[in-house]
Amino acid sequence: CGIVAYLGHQEACPLIIKGLKRLEYRGYDSTGISVYNDEQLQIYKKAGKVAELEKTLKGKKIHSTIGIGHTRWATHGEPNDVNAHPHYSSNKKLSIIHNGIIENYSSLKKELEVKGYSFVSDTDTEVLITFIEDIKSHGISLESAVRQALATIEGAYAIVIMDEENPDQLIAARKGSPMVLGIGEGEFFIASDATPIVEYTDEVVYLNDEEIAVINRDEFKIIDIENIELDPYIQKVELEL
Ligand code: GLU
Repeated sequence: CGIVAYLGHQEACPLIIKGLKRLEYRGYDSTGISVYNDEQLQIYKKAGKVAELEKTLKGKKIHSTIGIGHTRWATHGEPNDVNAHPHYSSNKKLSIIHNGIIENYSSLKKELEVKGYSFVSDTDTEVLITFIEDIKSHGISLESAVRQALATIEGAYAIVIMDEENPDQLIAARKGSPMVLGIGEGEFFIASDATPIVEYTDEVVYLNDEEIAVINRDEFKIIDIENIELDPYIQKVELEL
C-alpha cells in the first residue's frame, strides 16, 4: 500500500521508518524494510503497525545508506510476518517491495516451480522477484531483467528492487500505482506520494505508467519498457495535505 526507498549518504533505516509513518494514513496491515548491512541484504518485517517493526529493529546495529520500506495492504496471502514485504528472490540476492497486484502470478508461479524454484510466501510479489531472478540468471543486467519481466506480467505495480551484488543501485518502476522520485543533493528518495520526501527536497519526478527509474549513487535515468531513455521532467513538489 505504501513504499519508501532511499539511496544516499544518510542512515536509511530511521529515514525509511519515519517515511513509513508518514504513509500510515493510507492504511495497512504489515510493514517491513530491507537494507544492505554486513555486506548482505537483510529483511526485517512484521504484521501490525510500524511500531511493531521498530520493536523488531530495536538494539540491532544496522548501517546502510540504501534501503526499501513497505506498508502492506494484503491482496494475495493473509496478513502475517511471512507475507509482509520486502520479499527475497529465491537466492536471497534481490529484495523487492511492491504495491498492487500481479494478475497472472499463478501461471507464472507454476512455470517457475517447474524450473525448480520454491516459494516461502503466498504473495504475487515473491513470484515477480523470482521471475526477475530467473531472467537475470541468464547473464543479463538487473535493469534489463526487470524491464523484460515487466513487459511480460499483467497487472498493476509500484516496485522498488535492491541487489546484493550492486548495493549502489535501486531500480523502481510503476504501472497503475503512484510513485514519486525525490532528487536531493547526492541522495534519492522514492515514495508512493511526496509526504515522506518533502522534508528533504522539493525537486521531484512523478513517474508515468510503464516507466523504470534506474538510480545510482550519483545519477539516475528513466527508461520506458522498450528501453528508450526518457527526458525526466523534474518539477517542484505538488503536495496536497
Ligand atoms: N499484492 C501484494 C501483496 O498482497 C501487494 C499488496 C499491497 O499493495 O500492499 O502482498
